[in-house]
Amino acid sequence: MSVESFYKITIKGIVQGVGFRPFVYREAIRHGICGFVCNTPDGVIIEAQGKECDAFINALQHNLPERARIDSMECEPSSFTQFSDFQIRESILGDGGVAIPLDTALCSACQAEMDDPNNRRFRYPFINCTDCGPRYTIIQTPPYDRVRTSMKHFTMCSECAAEYTDPSSRRYHAEPISCKECGPKLTFLDICGDEIVGDPIVLAVDMLKSGKIIALKGLGGFHLMCNAISDSAVAELRLRKHRKAKPLAVMFGSIEQLETYVSINEVEKSHITGAIKPIVIVDALKGTNLSPQIAPYIDRLGVFLPYTPLHRLLFEHIDFPLVATSANISDEPIMIRSSEVINRLSHVVDGILDHDRVIINALDDAVVQIAEGRLVMLRMGRGFAPHTFALASPLQNDILALGAHQKSAIALGVKENMILSPHIGDLGSVEADGYFERTVQTFKRFYDVEPSVLVHDLHPQYASSVFAVSQKKEHYGIQHHYAHILACMAEYGLCERVLGFAYDGTGYGADGSLWGGEVMIADTHGYERIGFLKPFALLGGDKAIKEPRRIALSLLFENYTLDEVMSLKSPTVEAFLPHEIRTLHHMWLKNINAPRSSSMGRLFDAVASLGGFVQSLDYEGQGGMMMESFVDDSIIEPFAFEVNDGMIDLSPMVREIISLEGDKTQIASRFISTVEAIMSYYADQYPALPIVVGGGVFQNRALMARLYRRFGEGRFYVQQQTPINDGSIALGQLYYAVHNMEKGRL
Ligand SMILES: [Zn+2]
Ligand SMILES: [Zn+2]
Repeated sequence: MSVESFYKITIKGIVQGVGFRPFVYREAIRHGICGFVCNTPDGVIIEAQGKECDAFINALQHNLPERARIDSMECEPSSFTQFSDFQIRESILGDGGVAIPLDTALCSACQAEMDDPNNRRFRYPFINCTDCGPRYTIIQTPPYDRVRTSMKHFTMCSECAAEYTDPSSRRYHAEPISCKECGPKLTFLDICGDEIVGDPIVLAVDMLKSGKIIALKGLGGFHLMCNAISDSAVAELRLRKHRKAKPLAVMFGSIEQLETYVSINEVEKSHITGAIKPIVIVDALKGTNLSPQIAPYIDRLGVFLPYTPLHRLLFEHIDFPLVATSANISDEPIMIRSSEVINRLSHVVDGILDHDRVIINALDDAVVQIAEGRLVMLRMGRGFAPHTFALASPLQNDILALGAHQKSAIALGVKENMILSPHIGDLGSVEADGYFERTVQTFKRFYDVEPSVLVHDLHPQYASSVFAVSQKKEHYGIQHHYAHILACMAEYGLCERVLGFAYDGTGYGADGSLWGGEVMIADTHGYERIGFLKPFALLGGDKAIKEPRRIALSLLFENYTLDEVMSLKSPTVEAFLPHEIRTLHHMWLKNINAPRSSSMGRLFDAVASLGGFVQSLDYEGQGGMMMESFVDDSIIEPFAFEVNDGMIDLSPMVREIISLEGDKTQIASRFISTVEAIMSYYADQYPALPIVVGGGVFQNRALMARLYRRFGEGRFYVQQQTPINDGSIALGQLYYAVHNMEKGRL
């Protein structure tokens, strides 16, 4: 007969807000274990006493709830205490280090309940359970318990309290538990903020049916929504929001409806229908009744399914898809209060579907796409962020990394964790910079730290760099493109020397010029820039970033005389008046407002101009996206290029493109092949090194598909859990500090 044993078990990872304690409870009962489980700021601790402790511990590791993740588990013999039963105890407060639980889409069990007329939560817009519902967005401070969430304002009714305390219930310790009696309430507001009498859902549906625009309070902020098959509604939204062509995401009522508008593979479908339900960018079908204004000039579409009970209720009454885009101004952070919508978007919306469950932490929808069956994270949001990486050994000092300027996000190094924040937005406005600073405060509060070391971008004018310097603490600048490579290394825990390609928009180079097409030999302690694009002039500075025809023109000036340029048959030349070309030539010749850049992102834009795809941009990355649809994978011949002393000269390519006379398919396909060929040129020189990539250019699906095929498994590292764009710069900065601080190298 086996004897009783006593263990203290400490578990870290994603173990709060995922039904972990009820799971532990059930396993304890099943194995006849007495003791208790409780949340701590670090994770979960269990005291276990019984004859089947080994089987119990084994079950904890292997029967995990779907959304839980164990990063570490320590079992030590416990001092003898007689327990007579197994309990879930109150959480222990203290200094932080736990993985913050993530918001999850409505689960199927809750969906069935809200569809059941006999259930007391029939059509209840805030139904949730231990498997689903709000988490990060409602937490004030960890550990995750109702008293430290915005649900503390709602007192449970006796029926909810009974479920909450019944270990056999699906809602045992479901912190946001509520019902029609005791939970949050919907209201429908006009643009002055006055409540309109009537059923809020019906009022919202009526507005959507009549082509109006509503703001709807979701999990992490407000969405702007309108009828996606109504040209006039979508045009009105674009006009009011001053958003010319940047694609809008579309929410569908069901997967069946979604599949009549887009073509998706099994991997894409699994993400669209999974537990998170992010926005997934997929191939749009041609000839549908969707408004062509949703995603002008491109054949890709960001799609998602209703992920809260409230979204589902809307679709009970309407049979058309809805545009659903974050309520904000340009790329500022998403709005979380109806007062903000009323003050700043009253010219955009016609009505507001609001409720009184406070959003404490703003959170955008995550945006992902699939390339060759693998996830590419485009925007780190709901369900994915904040993301915690476990380090091999604990840090001596707490570190805060402040990221870049666009697609801002921060990262915190605390104890044995690196934590990457959700997408904040583009900095540079009062609202965005304010939200950025509030996110810093939130993270300090969440993890109860006051970081002693700050890391930031080298660019002295980024709001994040300015903030870092203003804190009067130890602070260090990390080169932007090196940080891209480090971010990928961080995700995979790489420490060895790698061959890194950082292909990006413009970033501040170590020599003060604008980099962005860099090839590096790097490790966690430093890098050597072994290759870069031959710098070209951005005629008019920032203006050239909006008008790629100006970059393309400077490439033409490098290759032809002014007279030759004037007589070229080229979409770039045709996009200017003759006197404009002469003026720009003068600027180019005399170096007036013509900063030079080695940016691969800008080269993509220039080629998009030379090929006649687009001459002036409405949003970042538009050039590459428009070319993507023309890439034919059977055309693999690269354009010619030369490499001299590490400088990659694409002059021969420019001449070849001109000779193709605007053949879009040839130009787009051969350009992608050229980028692939440049990378292969270096990969062949360093066959022993892992290949690491980073930067916004790698969001290009056509390019990624080629690279996966060329470099294959084993050697090729691409971020999947964190954004490959500037959204993970903070993670790269942090990874550098983690590896150098203790050794006094910073
Ligand atoms: Zn549920
Ligand atoms: Zn209730």
